[in-house]
Amino acid sequence: MKAQAEIEVYIGLGSNLEQPEAQIKSARKEIAALPQVAECAFSSLYRSAPMGPQDQPDYVNAVMKITTDLSPMALLHALQEIENRHGRVRARRWGERTLDLDILLYGDQHIVQPDLIIPHIGIAERAFVLYPLEEIAGSDLVIPGQGTLAQLLAACPLNGLCRLPA
Ligand code: AMP
Repeated sequence: MKAQAEIEVYIGLGSNLEQPEAQIKSARKEIAALPQVAECAFSSLYRSAPMGPQDQPDYVNAVMKITTDLSPMALLHALQEIENRHGRVRARRWGERTLDLDILLYGDQHIVQPDLIIPHIGIAERAFVLYPLEEIAGSDLVIPGQGTLAQLLAACPLNGLCRLPA
């Protein structure tokens, strides 16, 4: 039986290698199956241009909402295990990857630790995070220390982001 889930958490998913849509869909199932995690919502899939080196395929992105009573670090480690199972290799900064899982928000907490920064760094500039987040959280969502999602969206162009058909 799953433990009582308490904190609302948003996770960003991204992939641009080895059938990215399938990577994202199977990661969703693996996250939902984690002990002490319950899935609440999952955005559409979106296609986005790469952020770093341009000689890599476009990304497929999504955002998932869960509730959990895992600590932030325990959740990070569980997500890193899923990344590793997907053959994640860190070759170059912002380079291609089979699966990238980021903790975007952990309740209303503001966390700064050597291995974990929440809200996720760069959240405000990333269309591929903000637009899927709005789809499942609504634009009144408050990003701790940064204002509402509506305010962040107003300053963040789509940058070619497009929603993929269901
Ligand atoms: P990346 O290459 O973008 O997947 O970055 C991975 C590193 O980011 C890991 O070493 C994590 O410890 C660190 N990190 C810091 N904050 C977060 C976060 N909110 N979610 C996921 N990873 C994070």
